[in-house]
Amino acid sequence: MGKPTGFLEYTRKLPDDRAPDKRVGDWLEFHEHMGEQALRDQGARCMDCGVPFCHTGTLLGGMAAGCPINNLIPEWNDLVYRGHWREALDRLHKTNNFPEFTGRVCPAPCEGSCVLGISDPPVTIKNIECTIIDRGFESGHVRATPPLVRTGKRVAVVGSGPSGLACAAQLNKAGHEVTVYERADRIGGLLMYGIPNMKLDKQVVQRRVDVMAEEGIRFVTGTEIGKDLPSRKLVDDFDAICLCTGATHPRDLPIEGRDLGGVHFAMEFLHQNTKSLLDSKHEDGRFISAANKDVIVIGGGDTGTDCVGTAMRHGCRSLVQFEILPKPPEDRAPNNPWPQWPKIYRLDYGQEEAAARFGDDPRQYCIMTKKFEGDAQGHVKTLHTVQIEWDKDEHGRFVPKDIEGTQKQYPSQLVLLAMGFLGPEQRIAEELGLDTDDRSNFKAEHEDYHTSIEGVFAAGDCRRGQSLVVWAINEGRGAARECDRYLMGSTRLP
Ligand SMILES: Cc1cc2nc3c(=O)[nH]c(=O)nc-3n(C[C@H](O)[C@H](O)[C@H](O)COP(=O)(O)OP(=O)(O)OC[C@H]3O[C@@H](n4cnc5c(N)ncnc54)[C@H](O)[C@@H]3O)c2cc1C
Ligand code: SF4
Repeated sequence: MGKPTGFLEYTRKLPDDRAPDKRVGDWLEFHEHMGEQALRDQGARCMDCGVPFCHTGTLLGGMAAGCPINNLIPEWNDLVYRGHWREALDRLHKTNNFPEFTGRVCPAPCEGSCVLGISDPPVTIKNIECTIIDRGFESGHVRATPPLVRTGKRVAVVGSGPSGLACAAQLNKAGHEVTVYERADRIGGLLMYGIPNMKLDKQVVQRRVDVMAEEGIRFVTGTEIGKDLPSRKLVDDFDAICLCTGATHPRDLPIEGRDLGGVHFAMEFLHQNTKSLLDSKHEDGRFISAANKDVIVIGGGDTGTDCVGTAMRHGCRSLVQFEILPKPPEDRAPNNPWPQWPKIYRLDYGQEEAAARFGDDPRQYCIMTKKFEGDAQGHVKTLHTVQIEWDKDEHGRFVPKDIEGTQKQYPSQLVLLAMGFLGPEQRIAEELGLDTDDRSNFKAEHEDYHTSIEGVFAAGDCRRGQSLVVWAINEGRGAARECDRYLMGSTRLP
């Protein structure tokens, strides 16, 4: 522990984000880095706890408490305090293949479980992580390290999101010959085409993919398994397969008017936006524009926030975000104690931007859309809503109930459906005869990852359902370990 009195001397500080009213004018990342001394002071706040809850990664109340990939947080906090950046980088890479992704987009369950958080604001773990890795790239310490020995075994990884990339990186480290198949035209999964550029710059994704390609991993884009290549061919051609295809099947809102023009799934909006931005800086016009429109985003999670931030950058005329749940409390509720993830009210970047421009947080809570009304051209023009309250039914389950007299109409020419995802697409499972669970995910146990078909593994959102980047990395690494054990009889992968 660097400075025993650090947590008494320094308060929690984060770098200022770029001002919301300025950053909506571009697509650059909104986070800034802190000066070195200020960051070392933040590292000094870590108490090197006897039981570092930040690092545990257990599930409490269905949510992660502590880091799901068991990052060695107290160790690198101390190294940063002492200015040993290179050693901190090595420690970070021991548990996390891609700290530059989690350092930017993770909700940081580690901070929710930090022991200092019982009495004071927690250590700024995520910001320290991000700086360690960004300095590592800047100083040239992140280099390709191809394996010295090859095993002669061939593995196909299907899908190139964080689980597929982590799986491929680990299998390659073990000496296997790895080919990653991706149906999109760029590698990265939701890191590339889900999370927008202002939250995770696509050059940050590409620079890691370049390192992995230099290490010997083969990337094949524009190839959908089950369509361009039969799944069975992979089984025949490779010694093992790891399915990392994500949970891409979106939840729909099958109400009157759903087929009207201007009602889109969030991922259509986000994917097209990033592709057009990367292809042509939006000059090709091949994206759904929110410019000068009254936009309504249905769904209050990360996906909804990204739609808000994207619509703000297009120059929408107004913006409202519907959330079906009640507004969370400002502080932890009694039934949500430390070290659980704090379910509290937060103003995320998109809502902060909307508030800066329109004067208020755009979220409406406990609201349900009943009908989309269209104009004479078949384009959406009005949403009909009602306020709801949550009541228990006869089985004790919470169900929404309309509140009489709260019907309202909202004008809108662009509606984005961001209500979560229902599981993976089923084509590969059908082709291979793979067992699925009762939520249609590919069936395989956590920590085992072997599906019902020999030599076929599954990891990430396609196995656990829509989750977080950090869980996808956890699963990709675990599936690689079990795949290596299957191929070689034993494994040294963590
Ligand atoms: C808009 C949005 C924002 C999010 N923001 C955050 C955030 O801020 N922080 C966070 O931690 N998590 C966030 N998440 C969740 C996180 O992105 C996912 O949990 C994570 O990316 C899952 O990783 P994965 O590798 O399992 O799947 P994915 O990232 O979904 O990657 C799956 C890949 O497989 C490819 N694929 C599918 N089928 C085939 C096939 N048959 N052949 C070839 N390729 C195929 C897909 O094209 C895709 O590229 C967000 C999710 C969304 C949708
Ligand atoms: S729980 Fe917080 S204070 Fe304790 S070791 Fe982890 S980061 Fe440091």
